[in-house]
Amino acid sequence: TVPAGSLQAEDVSKDRHVGDMSIYINGEWGPASSGETFETVDPSTGKVIGTVPRGTAEDIDRAVKAAKGALPAWRDTPAFARGMMLRQLSTLLAEQKEEFARIEALDSGHYYAKALQLMEATPLWFDYHAGLADKVGGRTINVPGGQLDFTLLEPLGVTAHIIPWNYPFLITVRSAAPALAMGNTVVIKPAEETPLSALKFAELCEQAGFPPGVVNVVTGYGAEAGAALASHELVDGITFTGSVSTGKLVAKMAADHIAQINLELGGKSPQIIFPDARFEDAVEATMQGIFSHAGQVCVAGSRLFLHRDIYDKFLDALVERIKSVKVGDIFDEDTQMGPLVSQEQLERVLNYIDVGKQEGAEVLIGGNRIEENGLGDGYYVEPTVFTNVDNNMRIAQEEIFGPVLSVIAWDDEEEMIRQANDSAFGLFAGIWTQDIDKALRTARRLESGGVIINDWYGEVPQAPHGGNKQSGVNREEGLETIQSYTQVKHVTINLDGQLT
Ligand code: NAD
Repeated sequence: TVPAGSLQAEDVSKDRHVGDMSIYINGEWGPASSGETFETVDPSTGKVIGTVPRGTAEDIDRAVKAAKGALPAWRDTPAFARGMMLRQLSTLLAEQKEEFARIEALDSGHYYAKALQLMEATPLWFDYHAGLADKVGGRTINVPGGQLDFTLLEPLGVTAHIIPWNYPFLITVRSAAPALAMGNTVVIKPAEETPLSALKFAELCEQAGFPPGVVNVVTGYGAEAGAALASHELVDGITFTGSVSTGKLVAKMAADHIAQINLELGGKSPQIIFPDARFEDAVEATMQGIFSHAGQVCVAGSRLFLHRDIYDKFLDALVERIKSVKVGDIFDEDTQMGPLVSQEQLERVLNYIDVGKQEGAEVLIGGNRIEENGLGDGYYVEPTVFTNVDNNMRIAQEEIFGPVLSVIAWDDEEEMIRQANDSAFGLFAGIWTQDIDKALRTARRLESGGVIINDWYGEVPQAPHGGNKQSGVNREEGLETIQSYTQVKHVTINLDGQLT
């Protein structure tokens, strides 16, 4: 979280109105083919802030065809020049970060200071891929006989990007930037809860001078626009970030036309505390790990495996720390935790809190909706900690995606690791110990795409992010992301005139 007071209140535009937006296809702004729109809501008040077009299969078809049409020229644009355009996006975003932060805060419920911090970090994603654009390529291959063999790394073609609502802008950028850098064209379908920052991304691309059709953004519902995009035969690659259940549907749609697929799905990450953990830091990281963005984080450390030797002391400190967290309005300078994204998500989280109680877990702190805080009908839930949790309970197995921590006591290392791995998910894990052998031994045995030791996670463009098991397929970010947006062509040349 951002330290309170780091933001000057007078710098922030608190205008909560956004207005009526358009979709962006082939370099033109316009309505959906049906003329229909839907409303988008400020989750900290429950009030409508604007409308966006309800994109149809016809709109998606237009967008995909525009992306297909723009592909040859974009693919053949020198990689260095593509990189320069990404650098331009970086510069423009840095100049407009306050407006982007305002829109993201209003639409997704990130409190403004946090949204601003995110917008200050996001230009790095453009810079990283700008630099990479002309530095990746194929390889030469040693084959027997008189042949020269090499590979070319070519763009996939038209790429689809289906985005969730928790970090709408960052997740748009983290896949669109490498796709564009590698010479692909892009069609983006943001989540219906948070459509605004993807449209702002299109504005940025227009300002940077991307040719029409290279970047297209269609807002709409998942089962309509999303499904039409994932199943479109001209789409060559799909990057889907969202829930496991929708990911499975999207994977099936991709299979029907053999599109390459990247899936970045949910998690139920263990936060493992050994008795020799650096105490205060471990408490703080546990806090950040689950209450950052009100727990609506794919890597959230939602299962706390706490060693019995420090169990009571640790939970006492955690409760004290939680009591100091200011849950409040997105534009309030002191706010350290904002709302959940929607009424639906509010109900889902409250339902899981009931499930936990019915399963016999005990509420140590929190457990309620926050209603009486003068914010209107915002979707706020108290930071909540369940103790007496068994790893087989639903609150330990299912992704709640809210500010709810399940604490599981342990004393046997083998059994703790078995339980940490006893999950359908395998996205991320945290380990706290000062014993390097123990830390690395545990890191190697955890079934997850990422592990952090003695700190909590901050996503960066340089390092691969993604999950094992049902948490996903392939990786975003780092050099590993390149294979998601390229395909290999193998070329053989007969050098000695002898037929093989
Ligand atoms: P969701 O699956 O409900 O929706 C994600 C996107 O899919 C939205 O754009 C939605 O409109 C679209 N969609 C819905 N139905 C569709 C369909 N039938 N066909 C095609 N598209 C469809 O997920 P969400 O609730 O927006 O996001 C929360 C989930 O995302 C959590 O599970 C979270 O863990 C996951 N997530 C994962 C990562 C990661 O990097 N692994 C990052 C952020 C979020």
